[in-house]
Amino acid sequence: MRLVFLGAPGSGKGTQAALLVKRFDLGYVSTGDVFRQAVLDQTALGLQAKGYLDAGLLVPDEIVLGMIDQVLDGLLNKKGFILDGFPRTIPQAEKLEAILAAKHKPLDAVVSLEVAEESLVQRMLSRKRFDDTEETIRIRLATFHQQTEPLKAYYQKKGLLRQVDASKPVQEVFGSLVAILAQTASL
Ligand code: AMP
Repeated sequence: MRLVFLGAPGSGKGTQAALLVKRFDLGYVSTGDVFRQAVLDQTALGLQAKGYLDAGLLVPDEIVLGMIDQVLDGLLNKKGFILDGFPRTIPQAEKLEAILAAKHKPLDAVVSLEVAEESLVQRMLSRKRFDDTEETIRIRLATFHQQTEPLKAYYQKKGLLRQVDASKPVQEVFGSLVAILAQTASL
């Protein structure tokens, strides 16, 4: 089971991915976690990325594409994995496709967690992350709509998109997710 989790910031990607990872023993990478850790560790990548995280903007593709092979390395040897927060742009999706095609390990599904806009803001304000201020939350939502949402149509065309109503309580969303994935690939 090789999955991409697509969803606005605050849609519960991290929470649902963690539940799936535990249930099905999958590998997991969140590029947001990778960037936040790099910022905290003040690595070269962190120094390059910090301004974008603080501003609520996407780290430029050039930087993301330069580090993604290393980030995915190891993950591809697992029996399955979830990518959370990557890809976020069409060029990133194309790069991912090329990497996975070279390993003969194409994606099984791209899960889009759907939550109404007002709930997203409330959820993000309640989680106290250093890049979650009211200003950056607004910018990150706009960035999502402009740069990441077009990926839904991109993956829809490839027959990979699975949309899940993620406005419900955590366990209920998890239940629908498992049901949808069960129809998609062997779990
Ligand atoms: P997230 O935890 O997925 O919401 O990501 C937090 C921040 O990390 C984002 O607001 C971006 O600045 C950066 N980021 C994470 N993943 C990516 C990506 N695939 N492309 C560009 N920027 C990213």
